[in-house]
Amino acid sequence: MSENRESDLLGRVPDGLYIGGEWRPATGGGTFGVTDPSTGEVVKEIADASVEDGVAALDAACEAYESWSRTPARRRAEILRRAFDLLTERKDDVALLMTIEMGKPLGESAGEVTYGAEFLRWFSEEAAHVQGRYGANPEGTGRMIVTQHPVGPCYLITPWNFPLAMATRKIAPALAAGCTMVVKPASQTPLTTLLFTQLLEDAGVPAGVVNVINTSASGKVSEAIITDPRLRKLSFTGSTEVGQKLLAQAAPGVLRTSMELGGNAPFIVFDDADLDKAVDGAIAAKFRNIGEACTAANRFIVHTSVAEEFARRVTERVRAFRTGRGTEEGVTIGPLIDERAVEKADELVRDAVANGATLRVGGEKLDRPGTFYAATVLSDVASGSRILREEIFGPVVAITSFTDEDDAVRIANDTEFGLVGYVYTRDLARGQRMIERLETGMMGLNVGVVSNPAAPFGGWKLSGLGREGGAEGIHEYLQTKYTLTPDPFA
Ligand code: NAP
Repeated sequence: MSENRESDLLGRVPDGLYIGGEWRPATGGGTFGVTDPSTGEVVKEIADASVEDGVAALDAACEAYESWSRTPARRRAEILRRAFDLLTERKDDVALLMTIEMGKPLGESAGEVTYGAEFLRWFSEEAAHVQGRYGANPEGTGRMIVTQHPVGPCYLITPWNFPLAMATRKIAPALAAGCTMVVKPASQTPLTTLLFTQLLEDAGVPAGVVNVINTSASGKVSEAIITDPRLRKLSFTGSTEVGQKLLAQAAPGVLRTSMELGGNAPFIVFDDADLDKAVDGAIAAKFRNIGEACTAANRFIVHTSVAEEFARRVTERVRAFRTGRGTEEGVTIGPLIDERAVEKADELVRDAVANGATLRVGGEKLDRPGTFYAATVLSDVASGSRILREEIFGPVVAITSFTDEDDAVRIANDTEFGLVGYVYTRDLARGQRMIERLETGMMGLNVGVVSNPAAPFGGWKLSGLGREGGAEGIHEYLQTKYTLTPDPFA
């Protein structure tokens, strides 16, 4: 990948805040740097929003609300569709930028652009399909009219691990529903959102409808927006810990909230599973996005009779991985997002080994610039090890075993999280029992990746509230009104 191409692209990324349809510097002129995790070098300085800028962005969203909420759904749909087309055209730029600021291999970034763009297409289709009801009440004394209305100005907070898709998964349904918004990208990966915002402007999104604030002071800036009585909806994707804080801030205003939080996915392999497919699924469920996905398989729970063979085959696959900068040919594992992430992965691995786990491959930080951790496989992980309780968020496979179905269910559900579970079995009835018994909002039955814009994505328990995508996704941004009128024949 040529350095010229990268610097030309970085030069084209806006470096300001986007408020009321204008790019502007932060009040007071503050900036912060965005780092390439594969080198540790700052690649661009961008405006650093203050509390005042955050409130100005909400002012703009409130001002644009009346007009955008009354814009015909078909028109909103056409703008979203145009945004889909533009994103498809600009795929290479967006993918490269994501790899630069987040680290994932270029092929995976391209995959995220396709996935992220599909939310624009899906919600362009949903926009015109919001419907109400009309009918006589059971007593026959009146008519009941049920209508759907946009919820109002929204605040959308996104994480760094999927810089594009987590933004489009919120922005697209909000636009489709007729809401205006303030978007706050993660401070480690704001550039993708900035480039995407420029694209939304090109697609015809009117001034003030989407406002974007990058900030190194998320806590202060967000609190001012969340506690502002004009805000009507908060949608957050990130850690459970921050989500809980934000829910408390949202409580006094009784805000509508959507929370996409942490996971601790079980990946269960029964003795009758097709082991080749289970290994393929395991590699996808674990190593997609360098393991930095809320849907990443965290605990491999494998029947004792196949655990050794499963571990052997996964280790063989992992040995063939190539780690490096995501722009290099053939790289499958990029850097982790920062030093803290490397430390966390390393701590969890060391704790598991101290508790008796077998280290089959990896298990070390890489001695090179950037924040790299070797792809790792641990087997015979003892219950009680931290790695089975905490979200790893790195390229580490932790294998433990079970003897019967009840045992597998007990281990899988023994977590406060409930985002997704994966099950490999050839027995249809057993698969159906697992659908009913696993305490998760999503499940992959003989597949290792479940995300799809047409499906309701979201978790149970501490993994969250609400759903993104699918027919459900737009309803997170709509509110219902019931009206009663007298019997027109009376
Ligand atoms: P995070 O630290 O919670 O940050 C997420 C977002 O919240 C960032 O934009 C961050 O801004 C902001 N933030 C942090 N502290 C805040 C505060 N006090 N007030 C307001 N905003 C605040 O999470 P992360 O490390 O970026 O993301 C990883 C987590 O996200 C994992 O737990 C993962 O499972 C979860 N996740 C869940 C889903 C899902 O759909 N369920 C999808 C992807 C990721 P700064 O960058 O400025 O700190």
